[in-house]
Amino acid sequence: MTPRRIVIVGASLAGLRTADSLRANGFTGELVLIGDEPHEPYDRPPLSKAVLAGRTGTDRLFLPSAQDLNARRLLGVAATGLDLAAGEVRLADDRRIGFDRLVIATGSRSRPWPVPGEAALRGVHLLRGREDADRIRADLTAGPRRVLVIGGGFTGSEVASSCHDLDIPVTVALRGAAPMASALGEAVGTAIGARQRAHGIDLRVRTTVTALHGDAEGRLRRVWLSDGDELEVDVAVVALGSVANTEWLAGCGLAADPRGVECDAAGRAMGLDCAVVPDVYVAGDVARWRHPHFDAEPQALQHWGNAVDQAEVAAHNLTHRHQRPATALPAFWSDQFGLNVKSVGLPHLADQVVLTQGSFERGPFVAAYGRGGITVGAVAVNSPRVLDGYAALITERAPFPPAINATDSPADATVLSAGSNSAESSGPALTTVHGGQS
Ligand SMILES: Cc1cc2nc3c(=O)[nH]c(=O)nc-3n(C[C@H](O)[C@H](O)[C@H](O)COP(=O)(O)OP(=O)(O)OC[C@H]3O[C@@H](n4cnc5c(N)ncnc54)[C@H](O)[C@@H]3O)c2cc1C
Repeated sequence: MTPRRIVIVGASLAGLRTADSLRANGFTGELVLIGDEPHEPYDRPPLSKAVLAGRTGTDRLFLPSAQDLNARRLLGVAATGLDLAAGEVRLADDRRIGFDRLVIATGSRSRPWPVPGEAALRGVHLLRGREDADRIRADLTAGPRRVLVIGGGFTGSEVASSCHDLDIPVTVALRGAAPMASALGEAVGTAIGARQRAHGIDLRVRTTVTALHGDAEGRLRRVWLSDGDELEVDVAVVALGSVANTEWLAGCGLAADPRGVECDAAGRAMGLDCAVVPDVYVAGDVARWRHPHFDAEPQALQHWGNAVDQAEVAAHNLTHRHQRPATALPAFWSDQFGLNVKSVGLPHLADQVVLTQGSFERGPFVAAYGRGGITVGAVAVNSPRVLDGYAALITERAPFPPAINATDSPADATVLSAGSNSAESSGPALTTVHGGQS
């Protein structure tokens, strides 16, 4: 039966793209878009890059929709509960919104600094939304003596890069052996870390922050590190990964926890009994699922491209009897220190890695990742175009190491241990996030 009313909770990338695709697919029923942020949907990737570096403002990140959505937008109000039996979403202002079909697209948020008194110091920030970026930007333009980035995942590395663009001294402290190691493995993380250091970043691996200290006005002034050092710092950005926004689903019967809402590859939400729950779909950062191409545990793939792919699949399945799975290969990018880092497949699953093009030390390079003798991922630094060829190898499950006959293939193609399991965050293992702390 064609649904009359589809309610989407979470009015950001995945929610908007689901609405957009529904209209593109010819859905003419009622659409309701619920979001707790007061803004129209906006794009997050520029927050850690162009916004912090001052190249654009947070008021210019508008996410366009291709269709006239003709949607009822309930913005600035959070969903606080879900009653599956009644087919209703409860809102913070006590309203109840009925649905025929529901899309959960509530994304994730930054994991906070674990010591509340220290987290409350002025100058200590998280980075997830517009307001966070505006606050950090204001602190950066005030001319801090030094910025401390806590965590060396993608977000942390991009924040460090933006500070470097502004000529602000930066220290990055991370628990793992190399930046972004949990997503890209130690060999590639170490190669990128060396380039960060070459830009003057004070990169401290296997180092944790033991205390943040403020002055009498409650402003961050000094930090202590596990290597015994004490630094004078006015701004700290906590980049310790993310937690899925699932609290509003407590007790509703869905398999939802801080790692996300479990769903199948078609985006259908699963119940606590592991059975599909009819009429409820999940898309974007909040979705935890098993990609059909990879033999792996369900996981959240918290990247821009994944949110778009899952939204399109959910929109199709919301309005068609035939349910199609999401099969697009995961891919993401990061821009930092003049490097475009692009990944395809799931490098973090790998047990081995090999340099296939270029050099870890200088210039562009590409590395391929293998697991159990099969190619499962590839990462290109300043060489994005070649990744299509690697995507084909991953799709056809080519043996690892793959045969790459490129003019820039290195003389030494030693297969290395991928070392993707060096957790950089201080909390439990969570998800594969753009924040890069798994
Ligand atoms: C700083 C930063 C930089 C990034 N850079 C990159 C990049 O370079 N490359 C890349 O691939 N990815 C990047 N990402 C990741 C990418 O932005 C996310 O994967 C994408 O935003 C996911 O979209 P989403 O709609 O699933 O979730 P979100 O964007 O998190 O949106 C979820 C929305 O739901 C709202 N919400 C939460 N709970 C409720 C509730 N109870 N009721 C109503 N609304 C609710 C949230 O406030 C939010 O508006 C970056 C992310 C950040 C934060």
